[in-house]
Amino acid sequence: MMKNLDELVRKNILELKPYSCARNEFSGVAKVFLDANESPYNAPLNRYPDPLQREVKRAVAAIKNVNEDCIFLGNGSDEAIDLVFRIFCEPAADNVVAFKPTYGMYEVCAGINNIEYRAASLNADFSLCGERLLALTDSRTKAVFLCTPNNPTGNSLDFGEVKKVLDSFAGITVIDEAYGDFSKQKSYRELLPKYPNLIVLNTMSKAWASAGIRLGMAFAAKEIIALMNKVKYPYNISLPSQREALSQLRRKERVDQWIKMILSERHRVIDEFSRLDICRKIFPTDANFFLVRVSDARAIYLYLLGCGIVVRDRSRVELCDNALRITIGTREENDALLNALRQYAK
Ligand SMILES: *Cc1c(COP(=O)(O)O)cnc(C)c1O
Repeated sequence: MMKNLDELVRKNILELKPYSCARNEFSGVAKVFLDANESPYNAPLNRYPDPLQREVKRAVAAIKNVNEDCIFLGNGSDEAIDLVFRIFCEPAADNVVAFKPTYGMYEVCAGINNIEYRAASLNADFSLCGERLLALTDSRTKAVFLCTPNNPTGNSLDFGEVKKVLDSFAGITVIDEAYGDFSKQKSYRELLPKYPNLIVLNTMSKAWASAGIRLGMAFAAKEIIALMNKVKYPYNISLPSQREALSQLRRKERVDQWIKMILSERHRVIDEFSRLDICRKIFPTDANFFLVRVSDARAIYLYLLGCGIVVRDRSRVELCDNALRITIGTREENDALLNALRQYAK
């Protein structure tokens, strides 16, 4: 049932001989590096960074409980998403399936790569119907994208429905856990040994508070990771990003503290928001944001802008009419939002 990689990977990618960079060809100990046409000045920035980011991966492996050769690091998880298309999807022939509403990059990447994008609607309460999604797949469906907790709705997908997809779909299942650090649900990384076609995405952009360094992670069987390494730009993570990632990863207790504060603020903000006149419905969330249906999303969005507060108007998105997506900030930022809205209500 499950297709093996030879059936899923584009032929040109299977046959591709990757670019061999100087830093890959030499491995050993040396003092004098005259192999890469680098400058001898301005250390350490003069040197190309480790193309496979081994030191960063060692730290990631320990935190995520995954072998180093099952980790891909990208210029944001967006790079990993794009690589899924470039590795598996034949332009103008293959398709991918996701649900709606969800993260917009899957469809954008599909468009860039000239891949048909098919989306099954979530149920009205934003829960996933595995069968409805599977019904859109056919023999040319190379990948399915599942985002949990989902953006922009905030809810985690039901494990049983995800499992249906994992057990029935023959191609690559991508589970995007960008907000997983905020959720009580277990990570799908645990299922990697059982599902050779599963790719799990994590990122340093959200709970790890490091969107600026652009570091995304993909976890998968080492055969898939090897393909991603073959296709990626040789030095896809800059030296400053690698160093910064390492120093952030070594301060995990601080991140756990931040997550606690954000979750407690989320609880408080939702509680106070629900008492506002403009509030119609707050949807359950497992992330660092919540989706809320209000009396008039566009007017409130523009009013908040006038107060110098930016939220996301999602009202034109499938199933999200009159909905705003609001990120949890510091206590002071959240109070500024709530106070502004109390004024609006008057
Ligand atoms: C924010 C977000 C990401 C993160 O993307 P990066 O490129 O790692 O910053 C990935 N997926 C979803 C669903 C997101 O909301």
